[in-house]
Parts: sequence; C-alpha cells; structure tokens
Amino acid sequence: MVQIYMDFNNSSSHEMGNVIDNRMVNHSIAPNLIIKPKKDFAQISREVYELANSDNPISKYVTRSLEVIEKSINLYGIDGLGISFNGGKDCVVLLYLFTAVIYKHFRKSEKKPKIQAVYIRTPNSFVEVEEFVNECILRYELDIIIIEGPMKQALQKYHECRPNVKAILIGTRRIDPHGKNLSEFIPTDPDWPPFMRIHPILDWNYPLVWKFLLTLNVPYCILYDKGYTSIGSIDNTCPNPDLRNPAQSCGYDPAWKLVDENRERCGR
Ligand code: FAD
Ligand code: MG
Repeated sequence: MVQIYMDFNNSSSHEMGNVIDNRMVNHSIAPNLIIKPKKDFAQISREVYELANSDNPISKYVTRSLEVIEKSINLYGIDGLGISFNGGKDCVVLLYLFTAVIYKHFRKSEKKPKIQAVYIRTPNSFVEVEEFVNECILRYELDIIIIEGPMKQALQKYHECRPNVKAILIGTRRIDPHGKNLSEFIPTDPDWPPFMRIHPILDWNYPLVWKFLLTLNVPYCILYDKGYTSIGSIDNTCPNPDLRNPAQSCGYDPAWKLVDENRERCGR
C-alpha cells in the first residue's frame, strides 16, 4: 500500500492574484492530513483495464474512454494535458480513468508524471465538496491549481499560469446542459480561452457512472450518500426529492438508487 502525504517543507508555492496552488490549500485546511489510498496506482490501473477487457456490460464504454484519453496523451503529451476537476461524480470517474492510463503509459518510467488539474472554486461551495477535492489532491497526487470563479475568467487565468496546457479533459456527459452538441474533441468557443476540450465520458449515462464507481469501489463525495444526485452550490442544491426515504437516517436514499436518470438535476 502506498501512503501519500504532503511534505510542505519541500514544496514551493505558487500564487497569482486569487490563484492558489494545492499545497497552500491543503496546508490551510489540514496541515497534518495523511490520506492512505485503498489502492495504489498500479492496482487502479490493473482493475480499470481488467474491467475494460471483461464481459461486464459497461466494458465497451470504459474501453472507449480509455482510447480517448490515450489518444489525448499521444496528441498533446502529458505536459500539454490537464483535467478540470470539481469533485463531482463524473470527473471522479474521469480522474480514475486518467490515473489508470497514466500509470500504464508511464509504468516503465522512473517517475510517474503528476496529473495537472484545475479546480474553479465557486462561491458557497459545500464543505463536503471542498474536503473531498482536498482528499483527491492527496490521493491522486494532483498538481492542481485552484482559481476562484467565474469559470471563463478562471480558465483565462489558468491559461496564463499554465501556457503549456493545450487540452483539458472534462467530465461533461450528453445529458448535461450544453452536452448535446459536443463531441469528444472540440475546441473551446471563440469567446472562451483557447483549449481543446476533451470529453472522454460524453456517452456515459447516469447508471453507468454509478456502476463504474461502485464496481471499482472508487471513493466519491459523501453528499452522494445523502441523496444529492448533482451538486452545485449550497444556495441552489438540495437532495433529490425522488430519493426521499424517511427510513434512512439522513432522510434520503443514496444517489445510485435514482431510477429516472432524467431527474438527476432535480435537486438543483
Ligand atoms: P458538471 O456536470 O458538474 O460539470 C461537468 C464537467 O465540467 C465536470 O465533470 C468538470 O470536468 C467540469 N467542471 C464543472 N465545474 C467545474 C469547476 N468548478 N472546476 C473545474 N471543473 C469543472 N462553455 C461554453 O459555453 N463554451 C466553451 O468553450 C466552454 N469551454 C470550457 C472549457 C473547460 C475546460 C471547462 C471546464 C468548461 C468550459 N465551458 C464552456 C463550460 C461548460 O460548458 C459547462 O458549463 C461547465 O463545465 C459546467 O458544467 P455543468 O453545469 O454541466 O456541471
Ligand atoms: Mg455532470
């Protein structure tokens, strides 16, 4: 088992306006936080590729997503590629797949490159989400930049901070607002900062996301166990009314029990 921890004394910090790097964020929240991942990167990679090669009904989706991520690394290189990560279930799937591909791709290298990530923090985010993002920074050893929103301006700052990053993996799916007309590889719109947007899980649906997370026992934000099916800010998000169940201590069933996937955003 690998133990991941932050060594703040050996870290350099990066600050630019209201852009902050992972070490500063972690230090302010939990200076002594040590996350022991249930699995090391080798195991994550092995399990993901085993799932892709299995006769599990989700394997063809996993295979396609892995192909898209592998193609992205070939096109942009690991230095030219980032992931947009906000702690939501979709980008957790994406991050897990990305970790699996990177480990496989660089397994013979002496040092596994760190995943470059960007998190745009919006006002009034859930404490649970912030804590989960921090856990992921440690668990997956992310080289993350956290920028205060709004999104377009934050991405412009990210572009200035990390000019090497030309393409960004995004966990958007077809059912999301604006997801319908996207493709796996599509440049940002002309009035957005210039990146190639890459959507490896575009064709996944809601049950698939949960099947993947539960099958591989992937850690996810605790709010999903309390009836939240799609998470925005504290002001606009509540548990999904479809999951109301007074028999549960929190009053709601977990997110994976949602039957009608069209009702995913009903708590927002
Ligand atoms: P979710 O379903 O929560 O998010 C979908 C995915 O977006 C997440 O899985 C994650 O990968 C990413 N994401 C969402 N919120 C955050 C956050 N706070 N921090 C980091 N990542 C996040 N819109 C346009 O109209 N034109 C564009 O050209 C365009 N380019 C974009 C480029 C990038 C890199 C990103 C991240 C977004 C871009 N957007 C663009 C906005 C995008 O279309 C969605 O509006 C936005 O991602 C929020 O998605 P959602 O509401 O579906 O939330
Ligand atoms: Mg989503």
